[in-house]
Amino acid sequence: MELIVQKFGGSSVADAEKIKAAAQRVAQSFRKGNQVVAVVSACGQTTDELFALAEEITDRPSTRELDMLVSTGEQMSIALMAMAIHALGHDAISFTGAQVGIVTDSQHTKARILKINTKKIKEELDRGKIVVVAGYQGVDAYNNITTLGRGGSDATAVALAALLKADLCEIFTDVDGIYTADPRIVPEARKLDRISYDELLELASLGAKVMQARSIEFAKRYNVPLRVRPCFNNSEGTTICQEVREMEENVVSGVTVTKDEAKVIIRGIPDRPGLAARIFREMAQSNVNVDMIIQNIGTHGQANITFTVPKAELDAAMEAVRKIQGEICAQEVSADSNVAKLSVVGIGMRSHCGIAEKMFHALAEEEINIQMISTSEIKISCIIDEAQAGRAAKAVHKAFGLERPGRPGS
Ligand code: ASP
Ligand code: MG
Repeated sequence: MELIVQKFGGSSVADAEKIKAAAQRVAQSFRKGNQVVAVVSACGQTTDELFALAEEITDRPSTRELDMLVSTGEQMSIALMAMAIHALGHDAISFTGAQVGIVTDSQHTKARILKINTKKIKEELDRGKIVVVAGYQGVDAYNNITTLGRGGSDATAVALAALLKADLCEIFTDVDGIYTADPRIVPEARKLDRISYDELLELASLGAKVMQARSIEFAKRYNVPLRVRPCFNNSEGTTICQEVREMEENVVSGVTVTKDEAKVIIRGIPDRPGLAARIFREMAQSNVNVDMIIQNIGTHGQANITFTVPKAELDAAMEAVRKIQGEICAQEVSADSNVAKLSVVGIGMRSHCGIAEKMFHALAEEEINIQMISTSEIKISCIIDEAQAGRAAKAVHKAFGLERPGRPGS
């Protein structure tokens, strides 16, 4: 007998039919002799709708009351899920986060789980019940309802799987699994059978919205066996695990494109100590999240600094730069939001060379100009013109042979 945690995202419980189908999934695993804990998100867009409702009341809702409000979405879906399981002839019981003792800190709307009392869940499982737990929510030390940040049902599922020492944590969603690229951008993209936590983390931080990044970190730390699989068919999806040696053969596992960054360009500042510190102190004080930074020395002792920020923070960044433009003696400041970030991710980069060359060569062949480059241990990112992003992704995907079946891990 195995213990399985199955998480159903909002799209997998969007209406009555889908809830019934999800309940079938749970029942199937239960009938095979497993103990099953189902973690359920709010139905469809419920959470968005609840946030929108609050916004209609006031533009500055109390975060405590927001949590009180949005947590009701999951309270609805767990009850419906338990009923759907009953209708299939099995015993099920639903619990809110507070009821199963998911204790968090008091940071409303982005709380972190501190501890979970698994006693109650275990007792119900041992009585032969399927336990249905509300995702995304907990309770703080003062009994206030809290939520774990958007997409937080993943965190609930992974944390429960870790603490219950589950044999598997399955994340049911509306995609087939993890792909080598977004199939809407690169039609040749292929589903990966296996990927490491680190690669998935990089892909998640680069906008592949399969799972909440925080919960992937947690799964890695506690070595939770994870599987992302579709709710709409029987595909095995993608298994996420610690890296094994043969994965390193996979020089590159995925290509991503994000369009949510913008570029700030500061030209003609004196090339002397302290100016970069001054600029980025101002960014920090304005709560602007800086990603890539390039400084190049121009002529006559003058330097240029270019950096990227989230598009949503571009106005704040430009305001901050203009404020200190005189002080840092900058000749010109400008912004460019028509940029995209193209990245390749793969743990094989640690042990193979020539990856950057291959990526840059593919872009050169397409006559795509690279504006900025940054690298980390398992990732290379380039800033390019937004209009060329799709073509660039296809070219790079092809250069690494990602469309070919039979690669290790695919
Ligand atoms: N319902 C919450 C949200 O939409 C949590 C989740 O779906 O994981 O963010
Ligand atoms: Mg949701």
